[in-house]
Amino acid sequence: MASSRHVAIVGGGITGLATAFALHEQAAQAGLPVSLTLIDADPAWGGKIVTHHVGDLIIEAGPDSFLSQKPWAIELCAKLGLSEQLINTNVLQKKTFVFSRGRLRELPEGLVIVVPTRLGPFLRSGLLSWPGLVRMAMDLVIPARRSGGDESLASFFRRRIGREAFERVVEPLMAGIYAGDAEQMSLSATFPRFRELERRHGSLIRGMLAARHLPTGRDRSAGPPRTMFVTLREGLGTMVDALVSRLSKSGVTLMPGRRVVGLRARSGQPAKGTNAIRLEDGTAVSADAVVLATPAYATAELVRPLNDSAAELLKAIPYASTATISLAYEVGEVGSTVKGFGFVVPRAEGRDLLAATWSSMKWPNRAPATRTLIRCYVGGIGRDALLKLDDGPLVRRVQEELASMTGLAAEPTYVEVNRWERAMPQYTLGHLQRLDEIQKSLGPYPGLYLAGAAYHGIGIPDCIRDGTETAAAVLRDFAAGNRPHV
Ligand SMILES: Cc1cc2nc3c(=O)[nH]c(=O)nc-3n(C[C@H](O)[C@H](O)[C@H](O)COP(=O)(O)OP(=O)(O)OC[C@H]3O[C@@H](n4cnc5c(N)ncnc54)[C@H](O)[C@@H]3O)c2cc1C
Repeated sequence: MASSRHVAIVGGGITGLATAFALHEQAAQAGLPVSLTLIDADPAWGGKIVTHHVGDLIIEAGPDSFLSQKPWAIELCAKLGLSEQLINTNVLQKKTFVFSRGRLRELPEGLVIVVPTRLGPFLRSGLLSWPGLVRMAMDLVIPARRSGGDESLASFFRRRIGREAFERVVEPLMAGIYAGDAEQMSLSATFPRFRELERRHGSLIRGMLAARHLPTGRDRSAGPPRTMFVTLREGLGTMVDALVSRLSKSGVTLMPGRRVVGLRARSGQPAKGTNAIRLEDGTAVSADAVVLATPAYATAELVRPLNDSAAELLKAIPYASTATISLAYEVGEVGSTVKGFGFVVPRAEGRDLLAATWSSMKWPNRAPATRTLIRCYVGGIGRDALLKLDDGPLVRRVQEELASMTGLAAEPTYVEVNRWERAMPQYTLGHLQRLDEIQKSLGPYPGLYLAGAAYHGIGIPDCIRDGTETAAAVLRDFAAGNRPHV
């Protein structure tokens, strides 16, 4: 019988939790004796996923939903017995707006992610000028760029659909997800699908039209119909609670509130793959494999004792700081300022607000019928000066922005500010190459694995997939003799 192996996972955000869950599940299925320890510096599990229940309000401090087309989060919910709690966005009020040239303009229907598949609604929306529309349609005739190499998001979309469509539609929707700067973001690392559409179809519009006829993730899973974004009835924190409860029942050693300060290879023999984890309180945890599911800048300091160049490469992954400001109003005070899910604000507008979500309109039970819950998003690369303000002036600034953009001048009855310092990893130009170099630098340290939002996708489904694949790699390497993996 194989001897028992011990895996330590550092970081109890969704990636670390999903890694531990998948390790336990996959080891049990394979009949492998594996024990697990999950360590987090914070006393609370979940990392960026934080749900607050405040009276009859459900406030998401961090993420509020996830993409249903990427199946990994929905699949994890099913394994956790949470499928019944998954909820769709409100189909009756599904409009989204862009604040552009002084007013809110509806994002046209038929816009698949950011590329129009029906031109009619786009023409009627007034979002783009006539020359802007003509330039966008030139995507159909502009030849595809065949040369390889990375390209910034801004350069790619300006080249294909023109400056106006890029600034007014692509930038706020796509760069906004990362709170990033499209001029610096890597297309290959963030939205490789668009490069692929250009290569295959010679045009984004033609590519999106062709893609409409392919089966979707929903068709394949045969589950109930899902809207593009879904969440959990009582908030995303439910998923964290369910994971922690399962892990605890499965005998995983949970160590919340314990900061890891570094790694060292035991007996100076890193090639044998046994790593010791040093904790801030002076104690250590030994393990046959270590998964670091921490933000890249934290991971950098943990691996520095092993390899300085890996640490520098990890440190070079930039992070954006943001804040969410949730405001609750009496419903009569808000009126019908925005009839939809909310709006995004293009960087070109030069405003402080990145986006605002009418949470109680978007989801069925974020607030009772008598209240309206609005969540504002500020910060991001090049727009974070505002975050230096204390809570009071920050909230006032956000209220001024809301008033001038939507006419909402009422005083909220509840306000909550959640600050996220260095929270959103930025996949800047050359990101994928940087990951290769990190992998090479950590080559001599078998049994060491990196996972999380900093590498192959920042969305919750991507983090879950990364954790699940990392778990599979750990078990594969146990079977074959340890090998590194990033
Ligand atoms: C405001 C905001 C809104 C977002 N909205 C969405 C959304 O709507 N949909 C979506 O899909 N995604 C969204 N995201 C992105 C998504 O939430 C994150 O990318 C994802 O949750 C990151 O998970 P993670 O486990 O990789 O990292 P984290 O959640 O950052 O977890 C890392 C963990 O490591 C721990 N740690 C750090 N250093 C140490 C140490 N030295 N020792 C021990 N532990 C340590 C931390 O305490 C933390 O718990 C949003 C993010 C933010 C900030």
